[in-house]
Amino acid sequence: MSSMQAIQEEIIYVARRMSELRLVANMSGNVSARDEETGRIFITPSAFRYDLMTPDDLVEIDALGHVVAGTRAPSSEMPVHCVVYRERPYVNGIVHSEPPYVNAFGMLGREIPPVLTSLLTTVGGAVPVMPVAASGSEAFAYDMLRTMGGAPAVIWAHHGLLAVGQTLAGAFELTCFVEEGAKAYHLALQYGQPEALSQERLGRLVR
Ligand SMILES: [Zn+2]
Repeated sequence: MSSMQAIQEEIIYVARRMSELRLVANMSGNVSARDEETGRIFITPSAFRYDLMTPDDLVEIDALGHVVAGTRAPSSEMPVHCVVYRERPYVNGIVHSEPPYVNAFGMLGREIPPVLTSLLTTVGGAVPVMPVAASGSEAFAYDMLRTMGGAPAVIWAHHGLLAVGQTLAGAFELTCFVEEGAKAYHLALQYGQPEALSQERLGRLVR
């Protein structure tokens, strides 16, 4: 299997898992990956059933937002993915999901602090929240990158989550960790105010 085929299979796998794990409703969300060897980028099509999706349904694009190959329309968030690939050369995988617990905090404008070790080790700090705005444009993407700073994930208020990774697998794992963290944080808030972790605090605990 070529690296290109492997990346296409990985996109399909992540898109299906994202749907199965209820990290998106129905056909929402989008997934893309850049092949490190060739630089080729593939993205999921717009409004297409994840359970029926095959590598042939993916759309090949370039980092400037041109469709290179494919018969379907690319995801409407394509301009956002392209800006991330252009501005963050180490990123090779992007997952946009719309997970319910993340969205509950996002619609209140509340970031998700590193309340679990998985969040501290993967995000490094709080997951920031981008103020509500219409997505799908390059302007949105640049505002989003400013909100993200060095964070690998960002909440889109009243909409969802975008996670990036050096690999697509990493971006997807991060998506799962952020939603699990948001869920656990939500549960903890029923009983009290959990303290955020920090490297310094964790260091003190293990010593
Ligand atoms: Zn969305």
